[in-house]
Amino acid sequence: MVTTFAEMSLSEPLSRAIQELGYEEPTPIQQQAITLLLEGHDVVGQAQTGTGKTAAFGLPMLERIQPGGKDPQGLVLAPTRELAIQDAEAIHSLGRHKEVRIVPIYGGQPIERQLRALRRGTDIVVGTPGRVMDHIRRGTLALDSVRMVVLDEADEMLDMGFIEDIEFILEQVPQERQTALFSATIPPRIAALAQRYLRDPRHVSVTQEKLTVPQTRQVYVEVLGQNKFDALTRILDAEMPASAIIFTRTKRDAAELADQLAGLGYVAEPIHGDLSQAERDRVMRRFREGLVELLVATDVAARGLDIPDVSHVINYDMPVDPQLYVHRIGRTGRAGRKGEAITLVTPRERGMLKLIERLTSRKLKPGRLPTAADVAARRREALKETVRSVLEGPDLHAYLLIVEELATDYDVAEVAAAALKLAGELEVKRRPEGPRERAPAEKVPADGLSTEPGMVKLFLNLGRADGLRPNDVVGAIANEARIPGATIGAIDIYDEFAFVEVPKKDAQNVVSALQRTTLRGRRVSVEIAQARRTPMRST
Ligand code: AMP
Repeated sequence: MVTTFAEMSLSEPLSRAIQELGYEEPTPIQQQAITLLLEGHDVVGQAQTGTGKTAAFGLPMLERIQPGGKDPQGLVLAPTRELAIQDAEAIHSLGRHKEVRIVPIYGGQPIERQLRALRRGTDIVVGTPGRVMDHIRRGTLALDSVRMVVLDEADEMLDMGFIEDIEFILEQVPQERQTALFSATIPPRIAALAQRYLRDPRHVSVTQEKLTVPQTRQVYVEVLGQNKFDALTRILDAEMPASAIIFTRTKRDAAELADQLAGLGYVAEPIHGDLSQAERDRVMRRFREGLVELLVATDVAARGLDIPDVSHVINYDMPVDPQLYVHRIGRTGRAGRKGEAITLVTPRERGMLKLIERLTSRKLKPGRLPTAADVAARRREALKETVRSVLEGPDLHAYLLIVEELATDYDVAEVAAAALKLAGELEVKRRPEGPRERAPAEKVPADGLSTEPGMVKLFLNLGRADGLRPNDVVGAIANEARIPGATIGAIDIYDEFAFVEVPKKDAQNVVSALQRTTLRGRRVSVEIAQARRTPMRST
């Protein structure tokens, strides 16, 4: 089994994309599946979302196709529109230097748009079985050139009643092809499907052996991907870790996250595979000396390090392998000391959470995001502790003289209170844009559809794929609804849709105004975002 991307002999455009995406080494499922697929074997992979399975089949598929033909050479079937979009985006970013054209096709999207895309020619189609079948029947999707088929989340497709559609589709694809089937579980019906449509498949799966975990307090907090950073800063403010390691999946994320944290005044430094040995040594020295409070690390970088016991391990990104989870949290609570492990879980990562729980035979405790009141209470506690240690330390004499002087005009307790207030305010100034300046935490519903107080989030059914940019949204709202651009809040644009925050009192007005107009030449449908409307799928 190969353990590095270098050993896989991937072509230059793909290696470059992996490097840019910041993947340091292949995940277990990638280590097992990629070589087999590159060698041309059919593969049955038992792996859930979160294990890196998309790249496990995406990279070999990208290697196999020669871009530029009329009809697709790669076909991926996925159970839901969300997964189809995600797979298409992931393969697209892996294939960024190969000029591969990928068309996602799924129900719910106007069929004309898909027809146009298919007519222009495509290299890979990623679709839901129902809609793919529609296109085959209409004669708008020819599968004669397909060389590789992937059935992604086959068990989900079975549960959703797609099995006959899949069989129909597989009958239309040339016999001379490669087939891969990925599934979290392999029920008999899926095993039979594999038996019938795959040729001498090799079986790969993520590690199944039981793992033992230290008795650290472990909690997880559910949060939407786009709210992760806010959640992290709130956790840091409430927990005030003396020293923490924050784990990310890629080296790019480690560097970016450390930058973002430093921008808010946290003393954070990244450690990852792209740093020289001297740079790593410097960061580690500063961390050991307590000059750096937060180490933002990838699994690979942390592996080789002699890291002292930390008070907190925070999994900003879920690991791509349950084994890594155990390594990560082993960094805290050593030798009977107190340690906390906090894991952020996005809806798509619930599968990985379950896998970790199964393999460690332990349930993680669900936690909630700290509220502004929690943060304030923790800060008061910390201030009290600091004052206590100063009271017990030396060198108070000069200050006592000041207190005595002031005590002629004020009560001594009042003088002390004023000094504490001042100390508290100075601490706030230390992080000028700090989290405590932002929205009170209570306003954030548990599912993370966070908005500033007095604002609501609107859902727009146009996105990056329609050419939508933040300026278009601001311009349309400001002009049509006649509200000042400065009052518009956060704008998040995804491939197929977008969110924008507007003042609650203007929401109805903005909805009707946007519906009267067009954005990038298209009519837009707008609605107030409901809690749980998430671009991700819960697995
Ligand atoms: P998937 O299971 O395919 O949905 O992947 C889960 C997440 O892991 C995605 O965010 C990927 O970008 C990321 N990922 C995939 N492969 C790797 C890797 N080798 N190293 C780090 N992250 C990865």
